[in-house]
Amino acid sequence: MSLKYSRVLLKLSGEALMGEADYGIDPQTLARIAGEIHDVVNLGCQVGVVVGGGNIFRGAGLAAKGMDRVTGDNMGMLATVINALAMQDALERRGAVARVMSAIKINEVCEDFIRRRAIRHLEKRRVVIFAAGTGNPFFTTDSAAALRAAEIGATLLLKATKVDGIYNVDPARDSSAVRYDSLSYQQVIELDLKVMDTAAFALCRDHRIPIRVYDLEREGALRQILEGQSIGTLVQE
Ligand code: UDP
Repeated sequence: MSLKYSRVLLKLSGEALMGEADYGIDPQTLARIAGEIHDVVNLGCQVGVVVGGGNIFRGAGLAAKGMDRVTGDNMGMLATVINALAMQDALERRGAVARVMSAIKINEVCEDFIRRRAIRHLEKRRVVIFAAGTGNPFFTTDSAAALRAAEIGATLLLKATKVDGIYNVDPARDSSAVRYDSLSYQQVIELDLKVMDTAAFALCRDHRIPIRVYDLEREGALRQILEGQSIGTLVQE
């Protein structure tokens, strides 16, 4: 089956890499995600990945314990580099070709983010893992995902989470919660739904990048979505 999308941006939260643990990286979870990405690359999709760092450090969490916020955010960005290197390794073990491109210079460890070079990698079917978020404190990796999606011309931003879509209320707290199949950007704002942080969401809306929120643990979901199946919740114009 041919794919509906030829270039996408996949946002993985740091927490997604923890598996059942409450810190760090679970090798089995990482291998499974890498397998799903490799599958869709083999089908011809160009995939950029933004990884979070919340499984290691979050700047806001460190600041709440008294650390300088910018230092905390710098540590958070470095955490995303650690996750990106782990993802690169997992992809390459499966035979995929991957490159980590960082928003902050760490040249001994990975490439710098250079937009045209990133696009060239994608065209050569290399998975590009965008590390260090936007390279600026006070931002999140959701914003980095929206930014990179816009920069590489992705036609879909996939937000892989622990929940299988967007609900009217938090399904973990309210058993009567109802999941939406699709929403417009305007509805997300009017209903005050938390899809991504405000800066990330505004960037997607302004550049008309559709966002699909889905459950990372649902096996084969990435491929099915790219084939055109309606899994999770789609936010678009
Ligand atoms: N971060 C930052 N600038 C960015 C992206 C991330 O300073 O552009 C820092 C911030 O401290 C954040 C941490 O890196 O808390 C990890 O990113 P995030 O919380 O977005 O990770 P996730 O929740 O997706 O695991």
